[in-house]
Amino acid sequence: MSFFTYQDGQMQAEGVPLARIAEQVGTPFYCYSSAALTAAYQAFAAAFSGQPATICYALKANSNQAVIRTLTALGAGADVVSEGELRRALRAGVPASKIVFAGVGKTAAEMAAGLDAGILQFNVESMPELRTLSAVAAARGRNASVSLRINPDVDANTHAKISTGKAENKFGIEFGAARAAFAEAAALPGIEPAGIALHIGSQLTGLEPYRAAFTRMAELTATLRADGHAIRRLDLGGGLGITYGEERPPAIRDYAALVKEVIGPLGCDLILEPGRLLTGNAGVLVTRVIYVKEGTSRSFVIVDAAMNDLIRPALYDAYHAILPVAEPASDAATRRVDIVGPVCESADTFATQRPLPPVAAGDLLTICSAGAYSAVMGSTYNTRLPTPEVMVRGGDYAIVKARPDYDAIIDQDSLPDWLVDTGVSRSRGVA
Ligand SMILES: *Cc1c(COP(=O)(O)O)cnc(C)c1O
Repeated sequence: MSFFTYQDGQMQAEGVPLARIAEQVGTPFYCYSSAALTAAYQAFAAAFSGQPATICYALKANSNQAVIRTLTALGAGADVVSEGELRRALRAGVPASKIVFAGVGKTAAEMAAGLDAGILQFNVESMPELRTLSAVAAARGRNASVSLRINPDVDANTHAKISTGKAENKFGIEFGAARAAFAEAAALPGIEPAGIALHIGSQLTGLEPYRAAFTRMAELTATLRADGHAIRRLDLGGGLGITYGEERPPAIRDYAALVKEVIGPLGCDLILEPGRLLTGNAGVLVTRVIYVKEGTSRSFVIVDAAMNDLIRPALYDAYHAILPVAEPASDAATRRVDIVGPVCESADTFATQRPLPPVAAGDLLTICSAGAYSAVMGSTYNTRLPTPEVMVRGGDYAIVKARPDYDAIIDQDSLPDWLVDTGVSRSRGVA
């Protein structure tokens, strides 16, 4: 069920008209639904209720403090990929005992931060990384609990830029090198091997790649146990897809049943790392039409959001449904338009030849399914301001990330001494 629906002719989020938020916050802005986050988490947790699973929300999908805190209040841990995300998780109240540190390029300083915080485990992706972690942990008199991320070499059948489980991807230790890796891990000081991790990609819309990967994981677990290693924890990653347009992703309960069937008999504790699934359809990007430009071959709806606010269409050719905030008449004619932002790049296009009911300058549009990999990928390209974020909950809403002013952005730069006194005066503001 969607928590963004038309009511009384207006797109609302949990009963709050998006137009009302736009009046206060200005456009563009992201709007998250607390109820949608809660429903997604609870559906996932319920599907795994019979299994010994820790759900570590993959923060990189959406790392706003309010989002993390909403999920951790429901019981979620965190999957982090940088010291910055580790700090965000801790600040939002995620217990260190439920934090997993993933990522292919952790630095020694990041490892030290994780060790000092006392996190649950590091997912290690290469032998050089394992040796560095050993040295960092030993120097601090600590033991790092480690799962080795294994690359199962399966095709996730997803977009090339979000496929991570093929041998040619940079992620994980090669399947064939796993035994030697565990032998070394068992001998290294400061390393406590706990199990195996995998994550084969994102926005998966079928279960077969999971079955293939989990089956390889089960085989490897048996092999490693025969080698004398105590494999007690398996991290199955994330990646379950959501519906942006026509996709029919697997039901969570079917995914959970597959886990139970293939992984359950191994008797391990499980870690699950959903990201997109929890937040993707819990957020929208609201934007205002600036101009409608009629061309001979194309018509362009130019909006005040751009690729710096939401880069997924430019980066992944991603589809996002786009709906007027004011509900169109049920018999309204549509016509095909290109919906584009103001940034000076042709890639700054949200939709090409998309059927849209008539819109005019000043109208608001809802760009749907923008709760994951959206605000977090924002930039200030073209010196556009970072996008504010709002969370609604049961008819109420709060700004959870404010829009900074221009000076806050420009003040991040500083001049070297030799450029301060050039005789050219500088002005602040445009008044
Ligand atoms: C990105 C990522 C996830 C989350 O992926 P989703 O597709 O958002 O569920 C989980 N685990 C790891 C290691 C990741 O890199």
